[in-house]
Amino acid sequence: MAKTFCHKVETMGINSRCFLSVRSLLLGISLMVCSNAAFSGETADPPRLILQITVDQLRGDLPKRYYERLGQGGFRYLLEAGVVYRNAHHAHANTETIVGHATLATGANPSDHGMVGNLWFDREKGVITYNVEDARYRLLTADADVDEGAEIDPTQRAAKTEGRSPAAILVSTFSDELRSSNDGRSKAIGVSVKDRGAISLAGHAGTAFWFSKSGAEFVTSNYYLDKYPQWVNDWNSKQLPQTYANTSWELLNKQDSYLFGASDDRAWETDVGGFGRVFPHAFGDGKSPYFTTWLTLSPAGDELVLDFAKAALLGEKLGQRGHTDFLSVSFSSTDYVGHVFGPSSLEAEDNILRLDRSLAELISFVDKQVGLDNTLIVLSADHGGPDSPGYLNSIGIPAGYIDPDNWDREAAILRIKDQFGIEGKLIERYAHPYLYLADNARLNPSIDPAALERAIAGELSKFTGVSLAVSSTALRNGNVPDTWLYRAVLNNFHPKRSGDVYIVFEPNWFINDFDGLVVAATHGSPWAYDTYVPIVFAGAGLDHKVIDRKVHTTDIAPTLSAYLDIKPPSGSQGKLLTEVLD
Ligand SMILES: [Zn+2]
Repeated sequence: MAKTFCHKVETMGINSRCFLSVRSLLLGISLMVCSNAAFSGETADPPRLILQITVDQLRGDLPKRYYERLGQGGFRYLLEAGVVYRNAHHAHANTETIVGHATLATGANPSDHGMVGNLWFDREKGVITYNVEDARYRLLTADADVDEGAEIDPTQRAAKTEGRSPAAILVSTFSDELRSSNDGRSKAIGVSVKDRGAISLAGHAGTAFWFSKSGAEFVTSNYYLDKYPQWVNDWNSKQLPQTYANTSWELLNKQDSYLFGASDDRAWETDVGGFGRVFPHAFGDGKSPYFTTWLTLSPAGDELVLDFAKAALLGEKLGQRGHTDFLSVSFSSTDYVGHVFGPSSLEAEDNILRLDRSLAELISFVDKQVGLDNTLIVLSADHGGPDSPGYLNSIGIPAGYIDPDNWDREAAILRIKDQFGIEGKLIERYAHPYLYLADNARLNPSIDPAALERAIAGELSKFTGVSLAVSSTALRNGNVPDTWLYRAVLNNFHPKRSGDVYIVFEPNWFINDFDGLVVAATHGSPWAYDTYVPIVFAGAGLDHKVIDRKVHTTDIAPTLSAYLDIKPPSGSQGKLLTEVLD
């Protein structure tokens, strides 16, 4: 408060064209007020609350694209009052949800935090593993059946178990460091529709709550709690999701006021289970197996998260207890809408306007309960996202979908097996972006793994849409060119979880068919549209600044730590964002 006031008075004094005496008087007052604030210790008090907001798949340009259509108090507050980094990127190659969330939480790259993808192949167990699944820690709600392994379709399940924990995140998070700085007096709560969006930010020492699509409730696992707090039971028993039955996702404003107002029905948009490609998108009577999925791939998902986050803030008395608390809210609708309709669609545009309203409501609620001067807000995204190839083609930009089933793999595999004298299986698993080789090829003592991987990379590079294939042995030996692209692949490389070859597609080319589930757009590349995200800090008396310097998402966690004078997370590699600390 004092800082903002000083800033305003100084600006008035310097810019004022009124009488010199008035100007001198104002400057005099401003100096008095500012020096008082500097010595009062008022602004040196630690914030009562750190509010970390993550918007899943919010590419850095999107809030500004719809700026004149935005309301007050949401993005406008953040972008006009906050410290705005407009050249912020993830530094890792596999820009998927858990990878980005874990990076935001830890300040580490996936090479250190270990979250190299939403899925990886566990060589010891011989199974594909979903990032936060953990059979040791069952959900507190029976049959909550969280389908978060698949992004969208309830018939798709990547996770084999309903158990969940943060155990696979190999380093500490900012929230862990906050809790360990004061013997657990600070609380840390993570909320999201997605399990991985909540668990990653809550860290090992906090508590995560996420939305169960099968139960239409917020749930957690017994890693965190033995039973639900009363406020969670209260929230679940009011059955807010059910109030969307027999309603529709309708446009917020008049259709012709939208940038994409004339482009609602596009051939490349996905109709998920009858949700349709044009407005209004009806939620049906609530009995469809797709009902809660439809909620999550519309702004309703964010509205549920917002309401639950408000209940968490009140229920846990966050920011009211004499210690700095941490609340993480990860909004997932922008991601689902981006996948299903593409980020350049009427649905995505309306979703951003409604997200803006949810942000405004969250910020105003926090202001009322805790005060924005006592709250340090940071907003970013786990990744950006590509436009759908259909949209890009419609304005003359080359783009397309890749179907690895159409690659002439058999011929290539035969050539490699001949060359290296391999009997039996060559490829164990292709879980994009990683190709995992079979043990009899990989561990064969008469085969040089570097030569084998190089030969496979050479064959892969011949396929349509493949830009680069990188040998993991070459990465391990430091035997790759020092370019940004190789560094991004290296930042993603974890020796136990990464595959043997990393495949990078050409810009604007990606897989959109996941075992029959076809979507409009898929992120996950190292290209700028997937790495480019907003980073904004606001509240806590920060003055507005716009920073053009290139910064990384790894910078957020160590900056939060430095802000509180606590130690950085254990794998933190980011730089301090000095504009936030000054
Ligand atoms: Zn996604």
